[in-house]
Amino acid sequence: MVATQGCPLCDSPWQAASGEAMVCLFCGNPEEAEFRCGNGHYVCEDCRTADPREIVVRICDRTRETDPVALWHLVTAHGAFRGHGPQFHFVLAPVLLAVLRNRGLAEIAAERVHRTIERLSEIPALSCALHGVCGAGASAGAVVSLLNGATPVSDGERRAVLRATGRAMAAIARHPGGRCCRQSALATLEATWAFLREEMVGRPGEVSGVGGAATSRLLAASHGGGFALEPLVVRCRHFSRVPDCKQGCVYHG
Ligand SMILES: [Zn+2]
Ligand SMILES: [Zn+2]
Repeated sequence: MVATQGCPLCDSPWQAASGEAMVCLFCGNPEEAEFRCGNGHYVCEDCRTADPREIVVRICDRTRETDPVALWHLVTAHGAFRGHGPQFHFVLAPVLLAVLRNRGLAEIAAERVHRTIERLSEIPALSCALHGVCGAGASAGAVVSLLNGATPVSDGERRAVLRATGRAMAAIARHPGGRCCRQSALATLEATWAFLREEMVGRPGEVSGVGGAATSRLLAASHGGGFALEPLVVRCRHFSRVPDCKQGCVYHG
């Protein structure tokens, strides 16, 4: 993304600034601004030049956001996420894990989240049509795996991971028309949030295991204290950035 493309949040043209201190809308770092958009948004040099994986890490490592829909839209407002492509495969897992961290529900080491981003980035483009596995949908299993510590030989934990991904794939497949990576990611976000609400929070026996027990207890303790994940209202805020937007999509508007 370069300055001449306009603000990634509101598309307003960039205007010169006179070096005043401004906070980057992506990473939150303060900097002396050389320019800002007409609505006052500022993006720091490192975020302007970041590639898709770098911007995901820069935002998700630092953010205090607790709304998963808002955080997903912030990350994918970056110029690296215009159109469609495999860059959408590795956004959702770090977004959901950052939100759970910021709500005090799960504390996954940043290095493990970074490795998950790397693994999800290895899922190739076109995998939805050629393999029946949407890379964005695979984020559902990646999130549950990090929470419950599933391994290839574990029982309930591995099945929970597979159920989460299966639920996401079914949600993606319900939408008519050709692919829209934003639609698939939002369907996965909706399905994964529902999975966390229904199968993890307050039901630690379903997911506890080696490496996951502490997290499960944390989720259960929060639930016992009267906490539950709220139902999620998902809408696409970026349909104007999708040249072949399906318009009739349930997330449209
Ligand atoms: Zn702006
Ligand atoms: Zn920044």
